[in-house]
Amino acid sequence: MASSIVEKFQSMEYGPAPEDPSEVNKWLDAHKRSFGHYINGEWTKVTASFETRNPATGELLASIAQGDAADVDRAVKAARAALPAWQALTGHQRARYLYAFARQVQKHSRHLAVLESMDNGKSIRESRDIDIPLVARHFYHHAGWAQLLGDLTNSGFDGEEFRGYTPVGVVGQIIPWNFPLLMFAWKVAPALAAGNTVVIKPAEFTPLTAIAMAEIADEVGLPKGVLNVINGDGATGAAIVEHPDIDKIAFTGSTEVGRIIRKATAKTPKKLSLELGGKSPFIVFDDADLDSAVEGLVDGIWFNQGQVCCAGSRLLVQERVAERLYDKIRARMETLRVGSPLDKAIDIGAIVDQVQYDRIQKLVAMGIAEGATCWQPEIPMPKNGLFIKPTLLTDVHPSSTVAQQEIFGPVLASMTFRTPAEAVELANNTTYGLAACVWSESINVALDVAAQVKAGVVWINSTNLFDAACGFGGYRESGYGREGGKEGMFEYLVPAWTHHAQKAEVVAEAHTDTSKADDNGSAAGVGIDRTVKQYIGGKQARPDSGYSFPVYNREGKLAGEAPLGNRKDIRNAVEAAGPAGNKWAKAAAHTRAQVLYYIAENLIQRREEIVRKLADFVGEAQAEVEFDSSVDRAFTYAAWCDKFEGSVHNPPFRMVTLAMKEAIGTVAVLAPDDAPLLGLLSLILPAIAMGNSVIAVPSERCATVIGDLYQIFDTSDLPGGVVNLVAGRPTELGKTLSEHDDVDAIWSFRDDASASMVKLGSAGNLKQVWTNEGRAIDWFDPKRAEGLWYLQHATQVKNIWVPYGE
Ligand code: ADP
Repeated sequence: MASSIVEKFQSMEYGPAPEDPSEVNKWLDAHKRSFGHYINGEWTKVTASFETRNPATGELLASIAQGDAADVDRAVKAARAALPAWQALTGHQRARYLYAFARQVQKHSRHLAVLESMDNGKSIRESRDIDIPLVARHFYHHAGWAQLLGDLTNSGFDGEEFRGYTPVGVVGQIIPWNFPLLMFAWKVAPALAAGNTVVIKPAEFTPLTAIAMAEIADEVGLPKGVLNVINGDGATGAAIVEHPDIDKIAFTGSTEVGRIIRKATAKTPKKLSLELGGKSPFIVFDDADLDSAVEGLVDGIWFNQGQVCCAGSRLLVQERVAERLYDKIRARMETLRVGSPLDKAIDIGAIVDQVQYDRIQKLVAMGIAEGATCWQPEIPMPKNGLFIKPTLLTDVHPSSTVAQQEIFGPVLASMTFRTPAEAVELANNTTYGLAACVWSESINVALDVAAQVKAGVVWINSTNLFDAACGFGGYRESGYGREGGKEGMFEYLVPAWTHHAQKAEVVAEAHTDTSKADDNGSAAGVGIDRTVKQYIGGKQARPDSGYSFPVYNREGKLAGEAPLGNRKDIRNAVEAAGPAGNKWAKAAAHTRAQVLYYIAENLIQRREEIVRKLADFVGEAQAEVEFDSSVDRAFTYAAWCDKFEGSVHNPPFRMVTLAMKEAIGTVAVLAPDDAPLLGLLSLILPAIAMGNSVIAVPSERCATVIGDLYQIFDTSDLPGGVVNLVAGRPTELGKTLSEHDDVDAIWSFRDDASASMVKLGSAGNLKQVWTNEGRAIDWFDPKRAEGLWYLQHATQVKNIWVPYGE
C-alpha cells in the first residue's frame, strides 16, 4: 500500500473524478428540454428554435427559442413599461434585489457551475472556482452601488458618489459564449444597480445559464419587465441593436461585430460600450521567476481552452532566457490534462463548437505555413468531442497571421525580444489593446513597461485576475467602456440634465463660400486686417487649399477671413499631434497645470482686444461674459490637472490594483456654433489638462477666433502640436478626422447630423466617440459645461494589478 502511494506520488497519476450531472439533467427534463424567452416575467412558448449541445459529448441539451424582431419589441416594451416603477424604488430597495441575486447564485452555485460546464465545455474546476464565485461577487458589489446611488430625484441620484447622474434608460445587452454567466453578471448587475431595465441576449452556443438566472429573477421576485432574456443568434442581436426604443447597447464579442454595431447605432443617440477582441502580450523578462511565469502562462493561455478575449496569446520572451523558458513550458504542457469538462481533475475542456474548432485548426495550419514551429505534448486525448491539444508556436514572425489575429483557442504564439523598448514595441504592435502580462522581478522594469503598454488591464507577475471593483475593458480596437468599478457604473448613467436639454442650433455652412476670397486670403475689394492661418504643430500655416473663406459679423458685414482647411491640413495636424501628445501625456500634471494657468493669465492680458472682436459676432453683453467664463474655465482645468487622479483598489487577493487615468491620445474636437470661444475652449481645455493632444475645428461662424487663440497658446509655453487648430467646413473636416486611423477619439458638439457622421466614420479604428447627441449645452453653466463629465471622457482607465503583501 505504502509503495503504491509513493508510486502514485511520483507518477502523479490519478483517476477520473467526475462531477455528477444528474441534478442538471433533472432540471433540463423538468423543462422538457425546451426553453422560451423570458419577457415581462413570463416564459414564452417555443415556436422557431435552435439546439444547444454539450461540446464535450455532442449530447443535445435543449431546444431554445430563436427570437425575432417581434420578440425583441415585446421585451423592449416590457422593459420600458417597467422603468418608472423600478426607478421609483429607493436605492436600498434596488440593492435588496441585487443582494438576493447574489445569495441565490451562492445557493445554486453547483447547479450553475455544472450547467455552465455542460453547455460551454469549460472545466468544472474553472466554472466552480472562478466563474460562479465572481458572478456572486459582482452582484454583491453592485448591490452596494445601488445602495450608495441613493434615491432618484428629478435632478438625478442623491447619493454622494453619483450625484446629479440618472439612469440611461432601457439597456440592450449582447454577450458571448466564453464566460456566459460571468458576462451576464457583468452586464446585468451594474445596469440594474444604476436603475435601468434590461433586455439581454446570451450567445446562441451557451444560453442555459442566462435562462437559469431568469428563473432566479422569478425566485427573488424581481418586478416584471425589469430583466428580459431573449434567445437567438446574431440576427436576434441585430434586432436588439436596431430597436429604436433602446437607450444603450452594451456588447461583448468580436471586433468585427463591434464594428457592425458601431455603424448600426450611428444614426441614433444610443450610448454604446464595446468589449471586443484582444491579442494580449505575455511579456517575460530575463530576471523573471520563470517557474511562476510558466504557471501564469498556463492560466494565461490554457484557461478556458484559450477562449478568452484577454488571453495571453502572444508570448514575448527576452532572448537570453527564451530556450530555458520554452523547455519549462514544454515540460509543463506534458502534464496538462485534456478531457471531460465535468472531471474535476482536468485542466483543458472542450472547444465550444465545431465552427470554432475548425477555425482554430485552420489558423494553426496558417501559422505553420508562415514559418512557425509547432509543438504539442504527447498526452492522452479523449476519443470524441471537440478537444484540441495545448499548442506552442515558436519562431513566430511579429507580422504573421498567428501573431496578429485572435485565435481564441489553446494556442500560444511566441516571439523573442532583446530590450525593454523592443518588448514594448512588439507588445503594442497590434490593433488591439485589451490586456497584458509583465513578468519581471524588477519593480522598475515591470511598472515602466506597464505604463507604456497600450492595454486596459496589465497584470504584473500574475494573469487573468478579475474583480468587480476593478474595471475591465480595452484600448484601441479592443473597444471602449469599462465593466466593473466606478467607471463601469458610469457606463449606465448620464448627467440628469441631458434628459431635458434642447436641440443645438447649427449655423448652415453657407459661410465657407470662397468665391470672394483669392488665394492670398484677402477678400476681393474689401480692406480687412484679419487674415487668420491654420495652427499646426505650433506654427501658423497657410491652408493647403490656398483658399480662405469670409467670416461675417452679426450685421452680415465681413469681419475677417479664415483658412479653408482640407484633408491635407488634417493629415499634417494628425502627424504633429501624435508625437506631441506622447510627450505631453508624460509631462508631470504639475507642468501641465502651469501651462494652463499661463493660458488663463495670457487670456486676461488680451481681454479688451478679444472681447472687442468677439462682440462683433455675439454682441457686447455676451462677449464679456463669454470671455470671463473662458478664463474661469482655463483656471478650473488648470486646477484639475493634478487632481483628477486614479485610485487604488483592494481586490480580495494579495494584490493591489492601480486604476490609472491615462490620456486617450489624439482627440479631435468639432466645436459648437454657439459661444464660439467658450464652447471651443470648454472642449480643448479638459482634453489637454488630462494629457491629450487636440485637433480642433472651430465653428465656421466665427472661425477667426482661432487667430486669438494661437497667439495665446504661442505665448503660454504650450508645446507645439499639443493643440492644433484647423478651420474649414466642420462636416468635411470632421469626416476626415473621424476616419483617420491615428486619431484616438472624436468629440462632436454640433448637431445630430455631425454626431451620426463621426460615429459612422469612427468604425474603422473604433476610436472613442463622444457627442452632445445634437443637444444644446449651456456653456455658461459650469454645472453642465465643465467638470467630471468632461474629464471622464478625456481619460481612459488602465488597471495595473501589482502583487502586494502576504
Ligand atoms: P464570438 O466571436 O465571441 O462568437 P460574436 O461577436 O460573433 O463573438 O458574438 C458575440 C455575440 O454577438 C453573440 O451573442 C452573437 O449572437 C451576437 N451577434 C453576432 N452577430 C451580431 C450582430 N450583427 N448584431 C448583434 N449581435 C450579434
